[in-house]
Parts: sequence; structure tokens; C-alpha cells
Amino acid sequence: MEDISKEYTNGEVTVVWQPHKCIHSTKCWKGLGEVFNPRIKPWINIQGAESENIVNQVHQCPSGALTIKGEA
Ligand code: SF4
Repeated sequence: MEDISKEYTNGEVTVVWQPHKCIHSTKCWKGLGEVFNPRIKPWINIQGAESENIVNQVHQCPSGALTIKGEA
């Protein structure tokens, strides 16, 4: 199966989502439910919070399933 990679951008930051890496730690949606909500589709609402808050939350993803485009 091909590994999927999706991007969500607000024009300022771009979140990269790689579902095959997710270990379902639940950190993202417990930490920032306005943006990350697995109950709705698309599950990432990039307009749901300030860029800074989104970046901070993405940095807490333990698996690398969520990353910020352009960051090492
Ligand atoms: S924080 Fe990362 S590993 Fe945890 S549920 Fe969210 S995407 Fe998956």
C-alpha cells in the first residue's frame, strides 16, 4: 500500500499528515481539539487556531505523523 501524505495550509504554515505513522497517542486532539478532530472530515481544520498554537501542537506528536512542512 502506498503511504499517503496530505497537506493542510493556512497560507502561513503547512501541516503534513502521514496517517501510516500515527500511533494514536491522542495527543493532538486532546491538546488542540479546535484543529484536530478525528470525528469529522477532513479531520484537520487548519483555520481552527493560530499558526503558533498549531505548530506547538504538531511538535508534540510523538510519531512524526504530524509535521510542519519545511522543518527539519
Ligand atoms: S499526536 Fe501524532 S501520533 Fe498522536 S494521534 Fe495525533 S497524529 Fe497520531
